[in-house]
Amino acid sequence: VDTFDYVVVGAGTAGCVLAARLSEDPSATVLVLEAGADGPDATAVPASWPELLGGEADWGHTTTRQAGAGPRRYPAGRLPGGSGAIGAMLHVRGHRAGYDEWAAGAPGWSYSELLPFFKRSECAPGRDPALRGAAGPTLVGVPETHHPIARAFVESVIEAGYPATDDINGAHQEGVHWAELTMSDGLRHSAADGYLRPALDRPNLTVRTRARVTGLRLRGSRCEGLTYLRDGSRQEVRATTEVVLAAGAIGSPHLLLRSGIGDPRHLRARAVPVLANLPGVGRDLHDHPIAAVVYEAVGEPVPGEAGHIEALAALRSPMAGDRPDVGLFSVDLPARPTGFAGPEHGYAIGVAVLTPRGRGSVRLGRCGPDAPPVIDPGLLADPADLATMDEGLRMARELGAGTAFTDWRKAEALPGDEVGDPAARHEYLRRAVTGGAGPVGSCRMGTGPDAVVDTDLRVRGITGLRIADASVLPAVPAAPVNATVLAVAERAAALIARW
Ligand SMILES: Cc1cc2nc3c(=O)[nH]c(=O)nc-3n(C[C@H](O)[C@H](O)[C@H](O)COP(=O)(O)OP(=O)(O)OC[C@H]3O[C@@H](n4cnc5c(N)ncnc54)[C@H](O)[C@@H]3O)c2cc1C
Repeated sequence: VDTFDYVVVGAGTAGCVLAARLSEDPSATVLVLEAGADGPDATAVPASWPELLGGEADWGHTTTRQAGAGPRRYPAGRLPGGSGAIGAMLHVRGHRAGYDEWAAGAPGWSYSELLPFFKRSECAPGRDPALRGAAGPTLVGVPETHHPIARAFVESVIEAGYPATDDINGAHQEGVHWAELTMSDGLRHSAADGYLRPALDRPNLTVRTRARVTGLRLRGSRCEGLTYLRDGSRQEVRATTEVVLAAGAIGSPHLLLRSGIGDPRHLRARAVPVLANLPGVGRDLHDHPIAAVVYEAVGEPVPGEAGHIEALAALRSPMAGDRPDVGLFSVDLPARPTGFAGPEHGYAIGVAVLTPRGRGSVRLGRCGPDAPPVIDPGLLADPADLATMDEGLRMARELGAGTAFTDWRKAEALPGDEVGDPAARHEYLRRAVTGGAGPVGSCRMGTGPDAVVDTDLRVRGITGLRIADASVLPAVPAAPVNATVLAVAERAAALIARW
């Protein structure tokens, strides 16, 4: 049987970090198994990401019915670079208070304890060196020019009296800002570009694409290796030190469950032999609920050259406490929710609930372990999230009606002027809601009985097995998730290699 010191499952955002960092030690052999293959050329082109959704670089998941909406498409990258190779490239940390809350259930994971790893992961020169990295593998920058819709958005937020910040990833984590993007020389710069590709010529690193891991192999309580499918044949591999899961917030719990690691009642109901009783596997999946106000434009706006989202705002609604609760962003496309008709030419202001309370799950499908997972991100599952989103909708409309948009605005297409009273607004939000493409929490770290990994990211009760991806996050950060996953994976590598 093929044998390596470390076997990493998935070459997504986290897997690329682990591959590069673990193979820095020339005496350690590292195998990375990735289900996808290198993506189409369009993955490098920042503005092309919406075209990749539903194609070969996307797992093509769908959710269960959400709120008042039907099943939602739930994209996830299936290629080296993972979801970070098909996403919108936004590089944003959540508010520090959110990480400090992680530390209540997962001691050691406060913002200040994570900060060295945020810094290690990024190259964001010219920023406050106390808080930002300037020599890491992820190249980060703000484009020099901006789409007129993004400019109008920033102007409108300021005109409405909300704050602005120079660096949302720095000291002032509230206000409107130009998005930092993981781009370099006009091209996408995913973790595959920053970490994996520069390490490929190391003799101790082996990367196998088109290799889908189908089961973990346990001897007693030790994970010894795994099985995977490649070119139609079943292969085995042994890990002498550790298997590290980096298959993402859907892929990692799904692999554990199909291997017999999870809630025994669920496993028995799906006729999967129980190898380990870990009831938290697949629980607590969640994401930012997203909705949008869509405008019909006067004429045809110029096509965007970056990732279509170039300006963001983390703001406090009247319901907020000591930190922003609503995320707003401009979209230079008339991004209409599934199931709604929208204008041909237009733009949108997106609304996100920054710290959602709704929780869902990842489960095995009814037709055996090979069936697609059943995914419920729990969007608007908690009434508090609907109330926050309603505030966000009001704020987005306030901005969209501002004078800064006068040259562009023909009419509000969605929800439309007739949607005014609270019942109609709630109905729109429940029908329009979609996931923020940042699932987390399905293999939560912590010390309580539902935690799947301990605070060193070791799967509880099993030796030789860790998880180092978005699934371990106890709660979604108040921002898109990729920058946080980079930091968590950097820290995982340091824990594993005992730096
Ligand atoms: C369309 C889209 C847009 C996004 N935009 C942004 C954004 O602008 N900013 C931001 O911060 N975040 C964004 N995100 C979210 C961000 O990309 C993710 O949070 C992040 O990539 C999660 O990292 P991960 O390593 O946990 O998982 P992933 O990056 O998803 O990596 C998991 C990898 O594991 C592989 N895999 C899964 N199962 C198996 C298996 N059984 N065998 C072998 N390989 C397997 C997958 O193919 C994949 O390559 C976006 C996501 C999507 C889908």
